[in-house]
Order: sequence, then C-alpha cells, then structure tokens
Amino acid sequence: MSDCLFCRIVKGEIPVKLVYEDEQIIAIDDINPQAPMHVLVIPKVHIATLNDLNGEHDALVGQMTRCASAIARQRGYADRGFRTVFNTNGEAGQSVFHIHLHALAGRALSWPPG
Ligand code: AMP
Ligand code: ZN
Repeated sequence: MSDCLFCRIVKGEIPVKLVYEDEQIIAIDDINPQAPMHVLVIPKVHIATLNDLNGEHDALVGQMTRCASAIARQRGYADRGFRTVFNTNGEAGQSVFHIHLHALAGRALSWPPG
C-alpha cells in the first residue's frame, strides 16, 4: 500500500513523533491533537478498517489496546481517565484507511461524542 499514509509512516518515509515501536505496532503523536495527549497506535500491517479484521488479528488488536493503556499510564492518565477510539468509515469520521487506535487524555471528554 505505497499510497497509504500510515504505511508510509511505518516505513519511515514521513517524519513523526514516535512514541513507541515494536515488531507489530508503532505509536505516534497525532499531528492535530484533540487533547493534551493524543496518540495513535498503528499496526505495521495494512488493515483498512475494523471491518477487515479477522481472528488472526485478535492478538494484534489486544496489543494495540494494551499499548494505548501503557502510554496513558506513563503519562499519568491511567487513574484520571483516557479515551480510546477506532473510527470506522464515513459517518464515524475515519479519514485514514489503515486502522489506528486514538488514545486521548488530559481534558474532560464529553459523551456522547459529537
Ligand atoms: P481518523 O480521522 O480516525 O482516520 O484519524 C486520522 C488521524 O490521523 C487524525 O487524527 C489526523 O490528525 C492524524 N494524522 C494525519 N496525518 C498525520 C501525520 N502525518 N502524522 C500524525 N498524525 C496524522
Ligand atoms: Zn496502510
């Protein structure tokens, strides 16, 4: 997926603020943060939307979720609170079609979302 923004970021072709990396995932600071902490956890493998997940991805998604939680804890938000969001397709506002878990914290986040 040479034209996919997050595949290009995974390959190191676009500069980002790298928060975490291992063999399966990276975490980066969002370029347009919506809260004092706004991190994106991104798998290295290209998966367009949550609709494209299968059982072989279960461990990967679990790893992404634990990564988001660990970063929130490192930054002091574990007890105060943080939000994790996958947007899927148009009405949810997905703009990059390579799955990513938003992790937001540092301000009161309203519910339901807009
Ligand atoms: P979504 O709208 O759920 O697909 O989220 C895509 C996110 O990617 C948005 O929050 C953007 O601000 C973020 N984003 C887009 N380009 C970059 C980039 N070059 N580096 C970091 N984050 C980005
Ligand atoms: Zn991709």
